[in-house]
Amino acid sequence: MLPNYLQKAATIVFIFQTVILLLWYLNYNATLTILMKRNISNKSGLCPLIPPDLVGPISVNINATEWMDIEKKFQKVIKGSYRPENCKARHKVAILVPYRDRDTHLRIFINHMHSFLIRQQLEYGIYIVELDKDIPFNRGFLFNVGFMEALKDNNYGCFVFHDVDLLPLNDFNLYQCPDQPKHLSVAIDKYKFKLLYATNFGGVSSMSTEQFTTINGYSNLFFGWGGEDDDFYNRVVSNNMTISRDNSSIARYTMLPHKKAPINPFRMDVLNSGTKRPNQAVDGLNSLQYNLTEKVYRKMYVHITVTLNKKDAVTQLLNRLKKGKSQISESQIFETFKKILKN
Ligand code: UDP
Ligand code: MN
Repeated sequence: MLPNYLQKAATIVFIFQTVILLLWYLNYNATLTILMKRNISNKSGLCPLIPPDLVGPISVNINATEWMDIEKKFQKVIKGSYRPENCKARHKVAILVPYRDRDTHLRIFINHMHSFLIRQQLEYGIYIVELDKDIPFNRGFLFNVGFMEALKDNNYGCFVFHDVDLLPLNDFNLYQCPDQPKHLSVAIDKYKFKLLYATNFGGVSSMSTEQFTTINGYSNLFFGWGGEDDDFYNRVVSNNMTISRDNSSIARYTMLPHKKAPINPFRMDVLNSGTKRPNQAVDGLNSLQYNLTEKVYRKMYVHITVTLNKKDAVTQLLNRLKKGKSQISESQIFETFKKILKN
């Protein structure tokens, strides 16, 4: 047994420690609350690491609001861009959206995304990138164009590649670029909130400017529906990067209803082998050529319309492919495209 006076001393020390700990904890919490209220994390004026206004699960307004009303709602958005007023954003993010003929989707998307992104305290810009009507759709090519055009406007460090029909359902799903490329649309309602397949990198994904440059962007050669996302995945892993994902309760999305795009007869299955493809070094950002038809800074987004160089040559080749794909070898197709896109 300890002598009586030591027992007393030990009790006093214990109480003292507890009080100090409690005070420290209360003070810590109070400081945190004050900082969060001010939206400032430190003297540098940077926004807090965890944006204070996030709410978690969010709902979607699936009514196509009038543009005028959307503009009224987001008066602080100018030329499709926004930056926090009271603190310096930690992330400069460009949201790129390949687009054709989906006006209702676009209005729902823009209305949803501005409030989502503003709450995340990002400095961001939304880019809607459209291809001339008479050329088969090409999602990868449009992302490459959006990337080049966005970098002319701001030194974005992070890019999000976004389908227009996918809307995030939880604002803890942060549109920043972590160390590794990220697949964001992990759990989509239309697919019962389950990842379609382990190497899926389509829908919504993100990576840093440096990473996108390292992998030479998307392939320019996937006209029609499908394949470009798997090729994009291969580019990432073959450059020794890994793909990160949030847990499916955070990475939830709703897909706006749309008809399944018919698999385009132009689709080059031959190029969609699903394995590491040799042409990554010469097909992508470094072979990208386009004619900018229009770049309009609308209030709610930047609207880019492009057309291919040598459009007629592309159309001709695509028609040949449509008639007799099997008679043309992969290397022939690739070489022809390379010439068309480069000259
Ligand atoms: N897209 C578009 N118009 C089209 C085809 C595609 O705007 O006619 C864009 C849009 O951003 C869309 C994305 O490309 O979300 C992917 O196409 P889609 O939604 O048809 O593909 P799926 O959902 O079947 O993978
Ligand atoms: Mn879709």
